[in-house]
Amino acid sequence: MRAIVLGAGVAGLTCAVELAERGVAVEVLERGERLGAGCCSWYAGGMLAPWCERESAEPLVATLGLESLAWWPARFPGTRLRGSLVVAHGRDTGELRQFARRTERYEWLDAGRIAALEPDLAGRFSQALYFPEEGHLDPRAALDALAGRLTALGGTIRFAAGANDCREVTLSAETAGNAVIDCRGLEARDVLHDLRGVKGEMLVVELPDVSLSRPVRVLHPRVPVYIVPRGDGHYMIGATMIESDQPTRITARSLLELLGAAYALHPAFGEAQILEIGTGVRPAFPDNLPRVSRIGGRLYVNGLYRHGFLLAPALARQAAGQVLAAGHCLEVMNADSRQRRLA
Ligand SMILES: Cc1cc2nc3c(=O)[nH]c(=O)nc-3n(C[C@H](O)[C@H](O)[C@H](O)COP(=O)(O)OP(=O)(O)OC[C@H]3O[C@@H](n4cnc5c(N)ncnc54)[C@H](O)[C@@H]3O)c2cc1C
Repeated sequence: MRAIVLGAGVAGLTCAVELAERGVAVEVLERGERLGAGCCSWYAGGMLAPWCERESAEPLVATLGLESLAWWPARFPGTRLRGSLVVAHGRDTGELRQFARRTERYEWLDAGRIAALEPDLAGRFSQALYFPEEGHLDPRAALDALAGRLTALGGTIRFAAGANDCREVTLSAETAGNAVIDCRGLEARDVLHDLRGVKGEMLVVELPDVSLSRPVRVLHPRVPVYIVPRGDGHYMIGATMIESDQPTRITARSLLELLGAAYALHPAFGEAQILEIGTGVRPAFPDNLPRVSRIGGRLYVNGLYRHGFLLAPALARQAAGQVLAAGHCLEVMNADSRQRRLA
């Protein structure tokens, strides 16, 4: 059986790998010239945080997130399962209590246990929430690993695929009864009309003097910020949530707020070198939940919102299941019609 996947973001690559692992010959068509070009997934923090996300997300996100959390380590050895830490400054400790009320699977830490977990935060906070079952990864390295795994399984990725290439390949695939899975992110709005964009701004900095082992969320009533370690003294600082489908440059306000929050977490961030400032636009449905939908015979995996890495594997497994079930139906139908012809 063959399948075409449109888009090499986290949705497309997890679908492609999941199908290839099940013996399907997969070709991915990607509009960008290289992995990550024009792709929201490139700018993600890479937090795999099903329990923290319960603060603002439906229970489904935790359920799918747990399934995905188990998927990553076998495909990307760089997956780190060290939990996440949530802190708040003195005047914002009410935020911490509210966060605790909305989430689960955490432990309250006192100053001593915070220092034991993250020595560089010693003496900075008197209380924190620790979510020991969560993880994180470097999204760029993870996409790279998925692309490598797909190739090792015999799949291919065609970059710089133009609209005409995609139209031709998908048409001939569908005519031949092969599956097409559309993972174009926000670009799929031509079919998924209720998809919207939620812009996120982020920074990558280098700060060898501070060592953090796990994502740290800093709660604030207006500007909640997180810092995700990327290894080698690199940190991703993110992320804004702006209702906009325009991947315009970061605003001065956002830059000040993100850097201010990092500086407040640890003043050494004032000395960090800024390596990158980026913006991505998250594809989201009105309920902020993801969907695997079948429209006109084609599968669409989309609406991953702020949970692409957290949810994509679980959605990919659903999509692969549907592709193979449809393939099975097709084979049964073919066998039936062969029998009818023989009778
Ligand atoms: C700042 C920021 C921080 C985030 N942090 C996290 C986090 O910590 N954890 C988490 O789980 N999620 C996070 N997210 C969310 C996550 O990044 C998104 O949910 C995810 O990237 C969406 O993936 P996608 O594959 O659907 O879309 P995309 O990554 O946008 O991929 C779509 C791909 O389709 C391609 N494409 C478009 N049109 C065509 C076409 N016609 N033909 C072929 N290819 C096409 C595009 O070039 C692109 O490569 C964050 C997002 C942002 C912006």
